[in-house]
Amino acid sequence: MKSQRIVIKVGSHVLTQDGAIAKARMLALVELIAELKAHKYEVILVSSGAVAAGHTLLPLDRSSVANRQALAAIGQPLLLKMYQEKFAKFGHLCSQVLLSADVFEVVEQIAHAKVAIDTLLKNNIVPIINENDTVSVEELVFGDNDRLSAHVAHYFDAKMLVILSDIDAFYDKDPNQYSDAKRRAVVSEISQDELEAEHTPNNAFATGGIVTKLQSADFLMKHGREMFLASGFELSDVKAFLVEGKHVGGTLFKQTK
Ligand code: ADP
Repeated sequence: MKSQRIVIKVGSHVLTQDGAIAKARMLALVELIAELKAHKYEVILVSSGAVAAGHTLLPLDRSSVANRQALAAIGQPLLLKMYQEKFAKFGHLCSQVLLSADVFEVVEQIAHAKVAIDTLLKNNIVPIINENDTVSVEELVFGDNDRLSAHVAHYFDAKMLVILSDIDAFYDKDPNQYSDAKRRAVVSEISQDELEAEHTPNNAFATGGIVTKLQSADFLMKHGREMFLASGFELSDVKAFLVEGKHVGGTLFKQTK
């Protein structure tokens, strides 16, 4: 059976609780990845959480970018140690790959990084990717790894990006503001207005980090790839989708033609 390469992105809201790493949720995520590996998947993980992990060791004021860079440098090895311990429970090795956005602008660098990722996966090791926050501040400024993970999925040739979020799907409007918001199960096209919602403050789409998720989905669909957005707090929807092939909850972004 040919394995399927996927990228799973987990955001800091899911991985942290009261400013520290949410260990139970991290363990549930690692257990999910172990289960996916036992099925037909090759899994690349894109994980935030370095700043929160750093803050548990040194409570620097997180309001300045400089301090967040320092905290990321302190926390990244701790984050990886926690992942290593949890993957070991399932008999798996994991690895750290730090990338900056500019890697994806140079063909040779992409090729070079892909060789490393391919080699790790071939050896059954889970690559855990994060933005190299200490030298590239994009995530620390914009607070997301959504676009990084879309690049990872495209350039490292994954069929699908799975975003595990604090929201369980994409809705027709922000469900945290509108109780009558309806889940979109499948999305095959994203409008220009939705992609540019950041610039229109009164637009319901502009809150939270949904815009970067839509931009990621748009980028992937335009490159013939798919994205699945589901809850990172409750993993049953993503499990059903990936393991049982049942689309119960979550949103699948997939071009129809
Ligand atoms: P993460 O921590 O996973 O990166 P974010 O908090 O950045 O997630 O983004 C998800 C948030 O986007 C949701 O909690 C929700 O309030 C907001 N949001 C705005 N519009 C929508 C929408 N149409 N569908 C779903 N979520 C939306």
